Amino acid sequence: MNDLQNKLPQDHCEDLKRDFQVVNRALRVLSVCTQAVIRATDEVTLLQTLCQLITEEAAYRMAWVGYVCHDADKTVQPVVWAGYEAEYLQTANISWADTERGQGPTGRAIRLRQPVACQNMLEDPSFAPWREAARQRGYESSLVLPLLDEGEVFGTLNIYSVETNAFDFQEVELLTELADSLSFGILALRAKQKRQQAELRILRLNEELEQRVEERTAELTQATEELQRSNHELEQFAYVASHDLQEPLRAIAGYTQLLISEYGDRFDDTARSYAEVVSDGAKRMQQLIQDLLTYSRVGTRSQELALTECNAVVQEALRNLQVAIAQSHTVIIVDPLPTLKADQNQLVQLFQNLIGNAIKFCKEDCPRIQIRAIQRETDFLFQVEDNGIGIKPKYLDRIFEVFKRLHTRREYPGTGIGLAICKKIVTRHGGQMWAESIPGIGSTFCFTIPHHLNEQ
Ligand code: ADP
Repeated sequence: MNDLQNKLPQDHCEDLKRDFQVVNRALRVLSVCTQAVIRATDEVTLLQTLCQLITEEAAYRMAWVGYVCHDADKTVQPVVWAGYEAEYLQTANISWADTERGQGPTGRAIRLRQPVACQNMLEDPSFAPWREAARQRGYESSLVLPLLDEGEVFGTLNIYSVETNAFDFQEVELLTELADSLSFGILALRAKQKRQQAELRILRLNEELEQRVEERTAELTQATEELQRSNHELEQFAYVASHDLQEPLRAIAGYTQLLISEYGDRFDDTARSYAEVVSDGAKRMQQLIQDLLTYSRVGTRSQELALTECNAVVQEALRNLQVAIAQSHTVIIVDPLPTLKADQNQLVQLFQNLIGNAIKFCKEDCPRIQIRAIQRETDFLFQVEDNGIGIKPKYLDRIFEVFKRLHTRREYPGTGIGLAICKKIVTRHGGQMWAESIPGIGSTFCFTIPHHLNEQ
């Protein structure tokens, strides 16, 4: 005969009623705990709330949560507790190592990764180390539920009851569900915190970067100002020096000429050739100084930018070069050019230098030059194209430096400043300048003048 048949109908009814009450209470706890997990914003508060609910709502004597430490003694560190604890945890020294203190329900639950109950603390031999302390606080049985993260135990939820055999199958099942929901809540909070920290790090990094950019920009602002100032001083110096050099040079050139014309017939051949070298040198120096003055004037003696008709500018440059054009039989094609805000004199100088070079650096057959302007999104692109000797690719940048020449004066005359002047003029107008070339076929000198100049 089994228990059920032995019992009176009234007893059976009482049992059912008690079971119902137990299950009902556990369900209520589970529901309240689930709400707490959903609402939680930080880990410790969640643990605290849960332990309180277990002791207050479910009327257990005590509940605590411990975290598994991977230290030498494999300790379990209590994090929060609620109910009648009376410093029980201070001396509990719970471990999950394979030692005497690791044989209790907590140590076993961690190693087995499943719930472990101690249904009678006063008799269970594995509970010996804690028996006296538990008895003093009225604990009779306990249940330890592992908190799992992908199968690994990172903590335990420990529940103590004043009754022996308090944790039957159904209660354990419900409380396991509660522990799983707690693990989920903890892991979700940790993931959220990690995400927030990463976001914060990115934000901080961004701020740092912005600050560094600001600092750099400020430095660059300052550096540009200093550069402009020293550039200006240098230009002033070059201008004054060149200007003052002109005077004695004029005397040298003039008097050497006088020497040749008035005393030349008394010179022997050597003396005459020496005098000519001096005269040539002085003339060349005059030309160099003249060009240097022009170069330094681009910055110091420039006019205000005004509406300038580029067709007229090119015509003026061509007029200035008419002898060279006629002598070389140069064919020049000028496409329609725009009207834009510029320094007219400087634009004449710019075209004159480029056209002059195109005539000078030509092959024997007749030079042909084409000038055009292309309107682009932000600027006008000007091109001066010739069919001359061309430039090797490695020199395409260097030809814009002051005094940079690729030929001897005997091959092609010049001082090597013309293109430096051109580039300085273009830079002053906010544009860029470069050259494209195929040696033996021809070169195209390109420069841009931005539109925004014309909107001011
Ligand atoms: P310069 O004409 O007085 O030599 P530039 O500064 O005008 O000085 O030119 C520098 C060098 O660039 C020239 O010596 C020449 O070698 C090269 N160059 C300039 N324009 C042309 C061109 N249209 N075709 C080929 N080479 C050129």
